[in-house]
Amino acid sequence: MKHYDFLVIGGGSAGFNAARVAASLGKRVAIADGARQLGGLCILRGCMPSKTLLYAAEVLHLAQNGKKFGLKIPHATADMPAVQARKKKIIAAFADHRRQQLTSGNFDLFHQLACFVDAHTVELADGVRLTADKILVATGSRVSTPPVPGLADVPCWSSDDVLNLDFVPASVIILGGGIVACELGQYLRRIGARVILIQRNRNILRDHSEDASCVVQKAFVDEGIELFAGTQIQNISQAARGVAVKFFHDGKTIVRRANHLFNALGREPVTTGLGLDQAGVRVTPKGRVSVNRWQQTSQPHIYAAGDVCGPHDIVHLAVAQGELVARHAFGVKGLKPIDDALLLNVVFTEPQLATIGRLESQLKEKGTPYLAASYPFNDHGKSILMEANYGYVKVFAEPKRGRLLGAEIVGPNAGELIHCFSTPLAMRATVFDLLRAPWYHPTLAEIITYPLEEIAEKIGKAL
Ligand SMILES: Cc1cc2nc3c(=O)[nH]c(=O)nc-3n(C[C@H](O)[C@H](O)[C@H](O)COP(=O)(O)OP(=O)(O)OC[C@H]3O[C@@H](n4cnc5c(N)ncnc54)[C@H](O)[C@@H]3O)c2cc1C
Repeated sequence: MKHYDFLVIGGGSAGFNAARVAASLGKRVAIADGARQLGGLCILRGCMPSKTLLYAAEVLHLAQNGKKFGLKIPHATADMPAVQARKKKIIAAFADHRRQQLTSGNFDLFHQLACFVDAHTVELADGVRLTADKILVATGSRVSTPPVPGLADVPCWSSDDVLNLDFVPASVIILGGGIVACELGQYLRRIGARVILIQRNRNILRDHSEDASCVVQKAFVDEGIELFAGTQIQNISQAARGVAVKFFHDGKTIVRRANHLFNALGREPVTTGLGLDQAGVRVTPKGRVSVNRWQQTSQPHIYAAGDVCGPHDIVHLAVAQGELVARHAFGVKGLKPIDDALLLNVVFTEPQLATIGRLESQLKEKGTPYLAASYPFNDHGKSILMEANYGYVKVFAEPKRGRLLGAEIVGPNAGELIHCFSTPLAMRATVFDLLRAPWYHPTLAEIITYPLEEIAEKIGKAL
């Protein structure tokens, strides 16, 4: 039985970064990861493959719309084997790099599943037992199959399957309207599939404002996605050439058929088979490992980080949580918990949707006084010349001094533009501070000055 200062279960973004920091603090560290392929979700089946494919689809979309720019580009289509080959090459390079980091010798890597025997002991699949002073659970998440009538009885794709497609499917029904459903739904449409998106809530991307989700919704419909929001699925069944989904929508029963079904209804934390009970680690009613602001579970020496505890399945948060765990576990001074007033979120649809800091709904709910101003991309020089007219930038600031509270951008490169706010927000800057900075013309970024000026003017008048 080997003893470690720090034992990490799961070598994805959260686990690897926790181990890296603990090793840099001079601790004796082990990672156990039971994946067939090491690398973690982000690299292998999440952020990186999806964004590689989305970017290819964006280039294709631009080429197919060349006429708008006065260009003749005949027959721009997706060569799916080539698209896949490029993705595989890129992902293989990222995964190789991560494997090298995992086997760098900075820690012991056990390429096996692990489960708790007791609060300080973990057993590997080959029966070897490891003990540790501090343990991190970073086992990630997996696709969930909610109890939708008929869903378990028909063949159905997950995001993993969609990311590996080497052909253009004729038609796909997508269940769900979250980030994965929307990003990959638009990808499927852009490579040439007929796409029907069926969503239970009134709007897609329900964690975002109605205004923002309506902009994305309109872009989807304009691109030919058949979108049903506010539905209730009655039944899913096998059809002659694929599947049939029967659902209520707008007081009517509707049936849609397609060759393929894509379950994008969500993910669930990986906690089964981990022996959390034996370790006395509690989970929330939704099955996430329950943690405090330092990522400690109900057993203070056992931590959790990443998708397994949430609250957001976002990779930079998984990394930040992992790093915080290592520092907290080994007594680094001056730590601060992760600040949810700086929450950064990006949806890589086109138009992209990005938010940082407080959402307007949160400000309203908490009764926080705020000023808001927005400006549309269809009235902005750079976006007009790019034919990128969907969306807007909206800024929220505190009404007395103009300190930034949050921002919401739907539009071209919103995922990049939102970073204009991340440093200022972290430094508690005001709209006046941002207006002192230079903004180059003509750029997409300079659109941000318009809502900032409007808020500055409102405050100036009030003074
Ligand atoms: C299609 C898709 C696109 C995404 N795009 C983005 C994006 O653009 N931006 C973004 O921020 N986020 C994105 N995400 C989310 C992001 O990928 C995750 O939030 C992040 O990768 C989670 O990291 P993690 O360390 O918690 O888990 P993982 O990376 O999944 O690591 C968990 C590891 O634990 C191992 N494990 C599990 N159980 C055991 C066990 N019992 N014993 C040993 N090992 C075990 C697994 O093998 C795995 O390697 C996307 C997700 C998906 C599905």
